[in-house]
Amino acid sequence: MIAVTEPGSLPKRIAVVGAGISGLAAAHRIVELAPQCEVRLFEKQDRLGGVLATVHEEGYQVELSADNFITTQPWGLELVKRLGLGAELMQTNPACRRTFVMRKRRLYPLPDGFLMMAPTKMWPMAVTPVLSPLGKLRAGFEYFLPPSRDDRDESMAAFVRRRLGREVFERLVEPLVSGVYAADMEKLSLLATLPRFREMERKHGSLIRAMRKQMQAARAAGRHVDQSGARYSMFVTLQRGLSSLIDALAARLPKAAVRLGTNVVRVEPSGGGWRVETGEGRSDRFDALILATPSHVAAGLLKPVAAELSGDLAGIEHEGTAIVTMAFEASQVKHPMHGAGFVVPSIEGSPILAGSFSSRKYTHRAPEGKTLIRTFVGGARAPEMAEMPDAELVPLVLEELREVLGISGGPIYQVTAHWPRTMPQYHVGHLDLAARIERRCGALAGLALAGNAYGGVGIPACIHSGEQAAAKLLG
Ligand SMILES: Cc1cc2nc3c(=O)[nH]c(=O)nc-3n(C[C@H](O)[C@H](O)[C@H](O)COP(=O)(O)OP(=O)(O)OC[C@H]3O[C@@H](n4cnc5c(N)ncnc54)[C@H](O)[C@@H]3O)c2cc1C
Repeated sequence: MIAVTEPGSLPKRIAVVGAGISGLAAAHRIVELAPQCEVRLFEKQDRLGGVLATVHEEGYQVELSADNFITTQPWGLELVKRLGLGAELMQTNPACRRTFVMRKRRLYPLPDGFLMMAPTKMWPMAVTPVLSPLGKLRAGFEYFLPPSRDDRDESMAAFVRRRLGREVFERLVEPLVSGVYAADMEKLSLLATLPRFREMERKHGSLIRAMRKQMQAARAAGRHVDQSGARYSMFVTLQRGLSSLIDALAARLPKAAVRLGTNVVRVEPSGGGWRVETGEGRSDRFDALILATPSHVAAGLLKPVAAELSGDLAGIEHEGTAIVTMAFEASQVKHPMHGAGFVVPSIEGSPILAGSFSSRKYTHRAPEGKTLIRTFVGGARAPEMAEMPDAELVPLVLEELREVLGISGGPIYQVTAHWPRTMPQYHVGHLDLAARIERRCGALAGLALAGNAYGGVGIPACIHSGEQAAAKLLG
């Protein structure tokens, strides 16, 4: 899809709607690739960044949503370096990388070497108190189970139960994955979220066998299997918080490009380009348009002009989450918290999805002697909690943390963030749906979509979607 107004010429004016990381990456890429183009970035809020926001207050550095990003996809690291922020990249504290999992209201370390869905080491699985002897036997049986010959997508729950048994699913994989995707695992697509595990089954016959082969290859190459490369750990963040990525992107855009507090209410094809109307009733014509809003917003905007595309976009469901961040004096917390955080299985019946020991993961995020904890609630497990008033939410979370981490007294600092309808749900069949959306969008000249609803929810995937949208429109 090329949005040229005349054959061979670049679009002169491009509108980008939505200034989260996807829209900012798109606008920035246009400036990088075609500085002669005029770019206009519309954002309905009074600030840039969408869900990404860092608060600096009372000596604390608090991420209100995303905390770090993965390095196994290159687009985050590449952008950070192009923006001159390479020196600010930082890894999680190597002394505190393990994750705990809740069982009967107590926290136990995840078996060492358990990577998202499969074990790389047998002994920690054999001795973990998180699984029963029967659950362990069933997991070990995976080695001998023949691979499925069915190519179709399946839910993460069905896949993990089929390969590793119900206990590994309920006690380890469900809490780990639902903490990341805020999703219902009975609906979450294996192929759209963690396709490499299907690949492992296909290629090696078993996940355990595949993991062991990876370990052997990694050992032969002299590196750890859970490291993505020689220079960076699997996840990185920025010293001054992820808002510094937003600020650096904004600084690269022409001043006049950004329209904050501007809600786009209507878009329609116009003379080979697109007309964009804002809430104040202003309307302007552009040669090309990138919709980098959540897909449910894009669905509403496109409904009058592309009903089928709009219907597909509306078919991507969203869940919301809330994050409660609290600080305590170190002496108020009994649990030693030697780790990055904890995840909570659904069967525990806790209001919490996961907790992050922020001041352990990144020691500069709290003043000396203080402990900073971020707690996630909501998602598909408890959708109503994403918008629960703070007066109810905070005591609920505090009560739970008191019991699990042995906290006495109240927080000395606290901030909450609510993110309703922000996490797209990649349900079984998502890859087909996303491909259909791309085809339908491709049939509309001068239009591209970007955002977390299509090819990945993480920051690097969002950056990639924005940069690809820009490249497409520029031909
Ligand atoms: C709580 C939480 C924790 C997360 N943790 C991580 C993590 O640790 N690591 C990671 O990699 N990812 C994480 N993610 C995912 C990642 O942060 C998001 O997927 C990504 O930031 C989404 O960016 P986006 O630009 O696509 O969407 P958004 O950030 O939602 O931006 C869309 C923008 O469009 C604007 N908009 C909407 N409608 C209109 C309109 N009509 N007119 C103008 N503007 C409009 C909105 O105001 C918004 O600014 C997390 C997400 C959440 C919610």
